[in-house]
Amino acid sequence: MKSTLLKVAAFSALSLSACIGSSQAGKENTIATDVSASASTNVVKDSLSSKAATAAEVIAKKEVPVLCYHQIRDWKASDSKRAHDDIIPPANFSQHIKMLADSGYHTILPDELYDYLNYGKKLPEKPIMITFDDTDLDQYTVGAKELKKHGFKGVFFIMTVSIGRPRYMNKAQIKELSDEGHVIASHTWNHKNFAQFTDEDWEIQIDKPTKTLETITGKKVEYFAYPYGVSKAENLHKLKEHGFKAAFILSTKRDPNYPLFTIRRIIDPGTYTARNLYNSINKSFK
Ligand SMILES: [Zn+2]
Repeated sequence: MKSTLLKVAAFSALSLSACIGSSQAGKENTIATDVSASASTNVVKDSLSSKAATAAEVIAKKEVPVLCYHQIRDWKASDSKRAHDDIIPPANFSQHIKMLADSGYHTILPDELYDYLNYGKKLPEKPIMITFDDTDLDQYTVGAKELKKHGFKGVFFIMTVSIGRPRYMNKAQIKELSDEGHVIASHTWNHKNFAQFTDEDWEIQIDKPTKTLETITGKKVEYFAYPYGVSKAENLHKLKEHGFKAAFILSTKRDPNYPLFTIRRIIDPGTYTARNLYNSINKSFK
């Protein structure tokens, strides 16, 4: 798709869930020694809210920064200036990811974000999610490699029509990312604008791509990123009905009734310095 440029992707990455694990372990240690293991598990469970948060409660929580990347390659003379927002040179990408690691950020994945927003589950310190949209091959060759240097994990929003085409990832590469602990998520079949979906698009753009990705990864696909970042309030409930737990927009406003289906992300433009990115993260996510 030529205009992957505008696409949005949501993504997120997770890492160090060790922080969560250790805090739970700490709680278990406070339980009297004559309490059975299963009882201690229950105590830990009870410390989290078992009731899903209301929309207002989700919106009131501190937002977790979510970054969105598209192409990771050097600029060409033929690229427009506008395209430089969505094309980040590998050297810049490497510096930006290193800055996140040096600044103490820990990548999280969508399930962790969902459990935090919905059930109050604890996140590691300085959580951030790193997402990639549109299936570009350089996300596999450059993106995942840079994340690995820092123990980071990411989220890859795949538009299934492009799988196996030149300059895009193939099935084996997508499977490998999934096996390594990254999350594979949906970005429609051919990048059709969600606001323009017809009835039949729920099969073409949603259900079939989900099945394709689940067949490739052997895992459930439960997260979605809107092409171009464009959602449509009237249809958000349908994503839930079609099996999604959450969906990602870009830096526009969240829907007051469906905040889990309008989770915000910012693009890290190729023109940014690492300092620009750091400032943008702190300004955009309150
Ligand atoms: Zn896209």
